[in-house]
Amino acid sequence: MTETVIPPPARPALPVAGSEAVFPVRRVYCVGRNYAEHAREMGHDPDREPPFFFQKNPDDIVTDGRFPYPPGTGEVHFEIELVAALAAGGRDIAEADALASVWGYGVGLDMTRRDLQGAAKKAGRPWEIGKAFDASAPMSALVPASVVGHPAEGRIWLSVDGVTRQEGDLSQMIWPLREIIVHLSHLFTLAPGDLIMTGTPAGVGPVSVGDTLTGGIDGLAPISLHIGPAD
Ligand code: MN
Repeated sequence: MTETVIPPPARPALPVAGSEAVFPVRRVYCVGRNYAEHAREMGHDPDREPPFFFQKNPDDIVTDGRFPYPPGTGEVHFEIELVAALAAGGRDIAEADALASVWGYGVGLDMTRRDLQGAAKKAGRPWEIGKAFDASAPMSALVPASVVGHPAEGRIWLSVDGVTRQEGDLSQMIWPLREIIVHLSHLFTLAPGDLIMTGTPAGVGPVSVGDTLTGGIDGLAPISLHIGPAD
């Protein structure tokens, strides 16, 4: 093994439900505006736009249920999303083969510094400061597709302190996962360890220090997140 000049950074990984083994993470791809009602609440026409993508950093993932309120913002939003975890990849994947590349599924929160994202959109600047910040990708344990199959429908929901704020169904996705994988594979070489966050239903909103978020998707491991003070 090659000697490293600094200690090697830890490899981000997701827990696997019912197992001691973990899923090592390579990249985190995210889909924007993939539910019509959410596209409308963000001021966009859901019918005319092809899918578009951004990324989070793998080490933005948190799995311990703790979210320190991030710096530089006064408006942090939750977005509950289905997460697909890939065990295979490649380029130009055919739609018929797409779901076979998925190892399992989890529940994720695409935490967003909405004020910074909004300013970036207005100025035509990149979204990273709004989307790809420390702890911006809380995720649940993964459930293998061998157990849960490839869910194309099922309730997706998020509550804040017990009050339901987001509620939808996976069948409402404008671009279903198999088509997302096709589009992504035309742009990137997908590989084992890649995660895809598949977009959020309507009802996104701000969090405050002290809030407890709970969310889930039928058949998957639930997620819970406590919003703590800044580090
Ligand atoms: Mn999102």
